[in-house]
Amino acid sequence: MLAAMLHKYHSAILTETLSRNFSTPALREIIQANLDQDSLQTFFQPQIHFDESKFAEALAYIEEQRAIIARNHDPHDMRKALGRLTHGAQDFYAHSNYVDLWLDQNGGLEQTRAADIDGLDPAILNNPALRSDYFYWWRDFIYYVPIFKTFAKKYLVFVNSHESMHLDDPSRGPKFFYALKAAEQRTLSEYQRALKTVDPAMLHLFHGSPEPRYKLLPQLKTA
Ligand SMILES: [Zn+2]
Repeated sequence: MLAAMLHKYHSAILTETLSRNFSTPALREIIQANLDQDSLQTFFQPQIHFDESKFAEALAYIEEQRAIIARNHDPHDMRKALGRLTHGAQDFYAHSNYVDLWLDQNGGLEQTRAADIDGLDPAILNNPALRSDYFYWWRDFIYYVPIFKTFAKKYLVFVNSHESMHLDDPSRGPKFFYALKAAEQRTLSEYQRALKTVDPAMLHLFHGSPEPRYKLLPQLKTA
């Protein structure tokens, strides 16, 4: 979809972080719900993609989805809610200046590697300088029209615009890989947070396990 972290990266992050815990069909359901957030109906809802610095709204949306997981006894609904909430949690690092703020405080690209990033640094999450991109629909669409693209990217990039800020794909350079790492850490942390609210009797169904005694695997740690 337009102006969005590419689907293959949303899928890769979910596979990397959750495939140990969910059955393949269950994981596929989470991935589908995550990718569906870039459909036309949700495309213009900035809080779903952490756009326009609507952080309070975006976090409220995550909480709403978490509440669905908590009170639910339908494993499909639970997995779809997890897919929806992880979409925003991942977009956050691609659409905000989180990576820049982290790099500023940790020695920049020269002294760090992508694997060093802490995607859950409270000092950065609460930093008043944290902001995210604006998707100026009336003008940013020009970047997606092939004949205008080259010209527009060179001469028409606005400060704060999606085009000037996003880290949606590797064409944006090394910072993309920092965003990807941070998004993985955040995904795992959101999953663990959601898991605490799941009715223990639902754990195995949620994970798509036929085994009623689903046990948490030992690798569940961030960083
Ligand atoms: Zn998105």
